Amino acid sequence: MPALPIQPLATRFAPSPTGLLHLGHGLSVLLAHQWARENGGKFLLRFDDIDAGRVRDAYYAATITDLAWLGVEADAPPVRQSSRLQLYAAALEKLRDMGLAYPCFCSRKDLAQSAAAPHGPAPIYPGTCRNLAPDAAAARLAAGDLPAWRLDMAAATTRTGPIIWHDMAGGAHTANAAAHGDIVLARRDAPTSYHLSSTIDDAEMGISHVVRGHDLLDATDVHRLLQALLTLPTPIYQHHALIGDAMGRRLAKRDGAAGLTAMRDAGVDGLRLAADLIDGKLPLGYCWVKA
Ligand code: GLU
Repeated sequence: MPALPIQPLATRFAPSPTGLLHLGHGLSVLLAHQWARENGGKFLLRFDDIDAGRVRDAYYAATITDLAWLGVEADAPPVRQSSRLQLYAAALEKLRDMGLAYPCFCSRKDLAQSAAAPHGPAPIYPGTCRNLAPDAAAARLAAGDLPAWRLDMAAATTRTGPIIWHDMAGGAHTANAAAHGDIVLARRDAPTSYHLSSTIDDAEMGISHVVRGHDLLDATDVHRLLQALLTLPTPIYQHHALIGDAMGRRLAKRDGAAGLTAMRDAGVDGLRLAADLIDGKLPLGYCWVKA
């Protein structure tokens, strides 16, 4: 009997080169890397560098040096999203052809004015441009008015029906992509968005397991929806606990002291730190936090 094809295993780390990595990134990359090494899979590095205005050359190099310090090396040259824009354009076109994407001409100011609350989660888009008459939208496009492109969430979720996905760390989730509203598929200043490019690349790079922080748990609902719409394979997900500072605040790229480069410069032993993080041990002054 012929052997059954075995799905190759691969995982990835996908930082945005818009700042220096912190301890939380260190944990993500170490868990993904260890998972690949223990399971005979590939570990891949992808730079999510679609945000041209915020990307800096120095951050690509610092990322690679920080990872090497932790004992992490990718099994292939890093992938850069900025060189794969045509892949995302093709996916956007497919969603447009399915009648699920519409141009949005709202300015930042329009969006800020319609935001419900000054604090709290990102406001849901009120759908202003969803009902723009096709003629009016076409006229604005023809006049060179640059839109963002949004997903018609109600139409998209109706088309897929309910989606359930499994988290290796947290069990079954019923996706609630609708809670995100009409997400952006392509920004006005970038021909794609995090949700679209990440979903396309995970499929295109053959990523079988996505390991990332708990703060992206909700994003997975959107990614599962896009996978269903675009008939893409579904990775297995694992969302790990987040690291906070001594006050329990989630680390952010602006927290220089928690930065891996700062620790490296201060003479911290990267391999020792890596072994501790994998064992769930945090350096003094850090704690585990909920998303
Ligand atoms: N570029 C994203 C970030 O740095 C990647 C998130 C993901 O792993 O999907 O947050």
